[in-house]
Amino acid sequence: MRYISTRGAAPELSFDEAMLTGLARDGGLYVPATVPRMSAGDIAALAGASYEEVAFRVMRPFIGDSFSDAEFADCITRAYAGFGHAARAPLKQLQDNHFLLELFHGPTLAFKDFAMQLIGQLFQTSLERSGNRVTIVGATSGDTGSAAMEAFRGLSNVDVFILYPHGRVSDVQRRQMTTVTEANAHALALTGDFDDCQARLKDMFNDFAFRDGVRLAGVNSINWARVLAQVVYYFTAAVALGAPHRPVSFTVPTGNFGDIFAGYIARRMGLPIEKLVVATNQNDILHRALCSGDYVTTGVTPSISPSMDIQVSSNFERALFDAFDRDGGAVEQMMDALKGQGGFHISQGALDRLRATFASGRASEQETSAMIKRALGEMGELLCPHSAIGVHVAQAHLGATPMITLATAHPAKFPDAVEAATGVRPALPPRMGDLFDRPERMTRVGNDLAEIEALIREEIAA
Ligand SMILES: *Cc1c(COP(=O)(O)O)cnc(C)c1O
Repeated sequence: MRYISTRGAAPELSFDEAMLTGLARDGGLYVPATVPRMSAGDIAALAGASYEEVAFRVMRPFIGDSFSDAEFADCITRAYAGFGHAARAPLKQLQDNHFLLELFHGPTLAFKDFAMQLIGQLFQTSLERSGNRVTIVGATSGDTGSAAMEAFRGLSNVDVFILYPHGRVSDVQRRQMTTVTEANAHALALTGDFDDCQARLKDMFNDFAFRDGVRLAGVNSINWARVLAQVVYYFTAAVALGAPHRPVSFTVPTGNFGDIFAGYIARRMGLPIEKLVVATNQNDILHRALCSGDYVTTGVTPSISPSMDIQVSSNFERALFDAFDRDGGAVEQMMDALKGQGGFHISQGALDRLRATFASGRASEQETSAMIKRALGEMGELLCPHSAIGVHVAQAHLGATPMITLATAHPAKFPDAVEAATGVRPALPPRMGDLFDRPERMTRVGNDLAEIEALIREEIAA
């Protein structure tokens, strides 16, 4: 299996090369050259299999010869062993024909654990074999950083550094990063906001001397391996509700378009998904783009669903690549216009193609809070704000086809918003009950590239 860039001008790579690289050198994102199909018989045979077994069968064709069957199966087993639910991604009924896919039973209580735990194991296996060591640097508004620290802590061929905006992540998110005790894991509290963190990260990738010198690797959501790991739970959920014999739809709380793009891949593989509904908060660029064809950035307005406060939705580039018949030049032009003029127009043909798969909706702050309250009162379900946006948007798309809404985080990760809406303060699961007693460790850094690079060089030499 080969991987190609959405901008058409970077070398083709194998699975493990694409995973270790992250961003393509032409600025594009890696996608599989062809999407493997699963027949109705293959899908029907997944019924009753464990999450790990489904994961193996769904992902195996994408891996090529990067890992042996035994290596890959071991990585999957280790990745999900620390989850707090035997089903890993349990499905619950919410309403008539409406189901909730709980993706928050991993070690940091958000769906990002599904991908991050697996790529931690895959990185380690690949690096042990080659004898190489890499430096992972990530920027986070909260959930990605905690999932990455948790996945890479203690691995012997990796150092991990996470930049987060000082004073701007929730207490639970911060503590999940700063209470990690392993020496290879470093939380860096940057004086600035999330955009500053992301800008310094990009600077590091563009500083080729530094990038090559420390063997910089990226694990943000544009990494193909992360998307792939998320394809699995679309299969387990759909099969639980009768696929391939009957179709289902999904509603996905969306920021960077990574999670919902995994659903799109599942559909291309042959899973009978009728609609994939994009659910956004007030930062609704994707909803506006799908309605009007104009993808135009406005400023980000902070919300009670901070993991979806995004205005440039990186993974959307992968959907555009397909909608434009895999024309890397067309994608490059749109991305240049986004950079230069703050937006671009999606041609009618491409928009029609996107709309054949994707529907969309948004929830205001008020609607989000009202949904959290209503879900507890009418459905007996305490939802995190992101999941509540999904459930709100799904209401407009319920019908004869079963709807599955993704619950992307545990309510205890966002206790203030949940308490404000319901009066109930959600408790952390018992296995995490001592989070607030553990000592914290972090390094304060300025919003300064040279300072951050010097610190990273010093730490990995130590
Ligand atoms: C990251 C995140 C999202 C958005 O996921 P994307 O893949 O960026 O679309 C939604 N909810 C939560 C809780 C998240 O952590």
